[in-house]
Amino acid sequence: MQKNYYQPEAETMQVEDIKKLQEEKLIKQVKYVYDNVKYYRDLMDERGVKPEDITCLSDISKLPFLTKDDLREAYPYGMLATDLKNCVRIQSTSGTTGKRVVAFYTQNDIDMWEECCARAIVAAGGSNEDVVQVCYGYGLFTGGPGLNGGSHKVGSLTLPMSSGNTNRQIQFMMDLNATILCCTPSYAAYIGESLKEKGYKPEDNKLKAGIFGAEPWTEEMRRDIEKSLGIKAYDIYGLTETSGPGVSFECEEQTGMHINEDHFYAEIIDPDTGEVLPEGSKGELVFTSLDKEAFPLLRYRTRDITILTREKCSCGRTFIKMKKPMGRSDDMMIIRGVNVFPSQIEAVLLNLGYAPNYLILVDRVNNTDTFEIQVEMLPEDFSDTPKVITKKEKKIQSAMKEMLGINPTIRLVAPKSITRSEGKAVRVIDNRKKIGINI
Ligand code: ADP
Ligand code: ZN
Repeated sequence: MQKNYYQPEAETMQVEDIKKLQEEKLIKQVKYVYDNVKYYRDLMDERGVKPEDITCLSDISKLPFLTKDDLREAYPYGMLATDLKNCVRIQSTSGTTGKRVVAFYTQNDIDMWEECCARAIVAAGGSNEDVVQVCYGYGLFTGGPGLNGGSHKVGSLTLPMSSGNTNRQIQFMMDLNATILCCTPSYAAYIGESLKEKGYKPEDNKLKAGIFGAEPWTEEMRRDIEKSLGIKAYDIYGLTETSGPGVSFECEEQTGMHINEDHFYAEIIDPDTGEVLPEGSKGELVFTSLDKEAFPLLRYRTRDITILTREKCSCGRTFIKMKKPMGRSDDMMIIRGVNVFPSQIEAVLLNLGYAPNYLILVDRVNNTDTFEIQVEMLPEDFSDTPKVITKKEKKIQSAMKEMLGINPTIRLVAPKSITRSEGKAVRVIDNRKKIGINI
């Protein structure tokens, strides 16, 4: 099979050349940030580090980290590295974990970001013969504008749908023969469910691939979506702080996402000590932008937990890969002293044949954590007797106990009773946070 890349000279570069390029760019970017961003200059001065101290890639460990709190403190202009008159756009985080962060872009920053998204589209088999339906939200959220720009660069016919209005999504998908679908995985699952309800079979649409990201999703969810839409589903990762989606993207091997290393330098650290961990270790992902102009970030702690590996990939790309993030460090719940990730719960439910419609409710009553998982029953189970339902709940409970080590209460609820997501799904309601319990 002929291999396709959007920018082959970068995507298939020899590893030594990538490292050399990263080193040259890092030295420049550090000096640029030091000279132009007072907030970060102060952090470096506090540590006694000067730009001249950074002469090779491993010197990066001398630099201070940046956190989301830093960006919130510096809001709105404190991280800006160039004159506002050189900026052409702002975007903003979704505010999933608190106050939104705004990021600024020059035209070069936008071009770099869109090229990263174009690489992702081509890796998913996209070309100027494709019709790309973008149903990530447009506006401040980076999902819509990023994939829209990438699709233009590839020369695909772009359907700028934005999220929501699922009937219209389906009408356009069918009438205009969309071949690549871009949205959050939870919305893709919902579109699949809606197509089925309307009587369409997976082979009735012209879709061949989907590019899904912006939230954690499991391999089980991937299989579910692939089946319901009749496509190959590719993961894409990114965050507003570093540009948006496209920081990394999956190729046909589907074994992790290649990080666009010519623009971003990635590290894995121990989230508790900040120590840099060797390749292959699980830890918190940290990014340094290498050539951004308006909003460059050095050693930005993403709070996403993953693993980096540089195994030879059959696609021919040489960029390092990150495994599917299992969630953010702040998605992790500590329930009765046990660490629980929503993605573990999703994996159990989908393996048991349930759809990805569930809600996790955590609270504290009489000093004890309560832990309930509401799961939508399958439509065919709706007529079951209470006894049969209880039996099914027990089955889920014991599978959860095996995966998590603790027993949640399981409640099978009526089909369609859990709100569907058109963007990032909300899976957890942790009332302990509301009452200020430190967890
Ligand atoms: P917010 O942090 O407010 O959600 P963004 O909209 O910029 O802001 O989202 C970026 C975050 O979304 C990432 O840090 C990560 O936690 C999550 N994310 C993005 N893509 C993926 C993906 N493919 N898999 C898992 N999580 C993802
Ligand atoms: Zn690959």
